Amino acid sequence: MTNSRSSPRRLGEFAMIAKYFAPLAKGAKGAFDLKDDVAVLELPKGAKLIAKVDAVVEDVHFFRSDPPDLIAQKALRVNLSDLAAKGALPLGYLLSLSLPSWVDNAWIAAFARGLAKDQKRYGIHLLGGDTTATPGVLTISVTALGVGTAKKTPRRAGAAPGDLVFVTGTIGDAGAGLAVLKGKGASLTKLERDTLIRRYRLPEPRLVLGRLIAPLVSASLDVSDGLIADLDHIAEVSGVAIDVDASSIPLHKASRKLWGGGAVAKAAAAGDEYEIAFTARPRAHAAIAAAARRTKVKVTHIGTVQEGKGVRLLKNGRSVRIERAGYTHF
Ligand code: ADP
Ligand code: MG
Repeated sequence: MTNSRSSPRRLGEFAMIAKYFAPLAKGAKGAFDLKDDVAVLELPKGAKLIAKVDAVVEDVHFFRSDPPDLIAQKALRVNLSDLAAKGALPLGYLLSLSLPSWVDNAWIAAFARGLAKDQKRYGIHLLGGDTTATPGVLTISVTALGVGTAKKTPRRAGAAPGDLVFVTGTIGDAGAGLAVLKGKGASLTKLERDTLIRRYRLPEPRLVLGRLIAPLVSASLDVSDGLIADLDHIAEVSGVAIDVDASSIPLHKASRKLWGGGAVAKAAAAGDEYEIAFTARPRAHAAIAAAARRTKVKVTHIGTVQEGKGVRLLKNGRSVRIERAGYTHF
């Protein structure tokens, strides 16, 4: 559908695409400057295309008042994080926008600047998309495409009893950042508060590490719903149980300070991490540690895979209750 309405506040659909989005497609051979209906991607023979779509929604994943460039980067990065967990090399992405009337040219310009910045960082281009108006909230859906680099693409299935469980980065930072945005954290320094907020607003997809460890893992996913909830996805699909040692879950010292004694349980249930949780045979441990050193990404051994089902959080050998296993939308 087209519309030719255009106001000084907001360009019409085609003018908007030409001005703000076509420049982001420059350099992508099959995107035709966004002047065709589709993008055409030529893949090397035998290549595995890895595809992922994730939407971010106003008041669910971000707030209207958040900086538009950061909203753009987060919308893109949550998808790249999935590619990272599967060892994929990002090729490009498609962008679907549902715009409420408050979104104006200045907002779109800042949003496009955020995308441009990350395109450079990750070596990708915009390949196409869709733009509509909505009477509802701002919704941004990104489809990321990548090429699998591992002979066997890591899956949620594949964890076996005896495997070790690992996680990248520190867990709970984003959840703590969200709590700070909601007014908590008076005891923290400004630097600590800003660090946590940044971890919430700007995930760091572990793409390079993800490619290095892909051949070494038995199962892998990105932590978006919460560490325990996501490990439970691995446990369920792999048909195993997972024991997590509460004291080994890596926490940022700022979230430890924010949450005090309840920090581990809070962190284990917090969403929006975009770290990678994975399992691997014990013999892969040294190679995993080497990949962590090479990429300067912290990787922590947090548990073991057992026979059985479900995930247990263990403290001194005893099961710890967690308030809410993870985030579900409904
Ligand atoms: P159609 O009429 O088939 O829906 P559109 O008019 O929506 O096509 O889109 C025209 C071109 O602009 C297509 O190449 C499409 O991929 C691209 N496009 C539209 N919206 C966006 C967007 N938000 N980001 C990137 N490309 C877009
Ligand atoms: Mg369209």
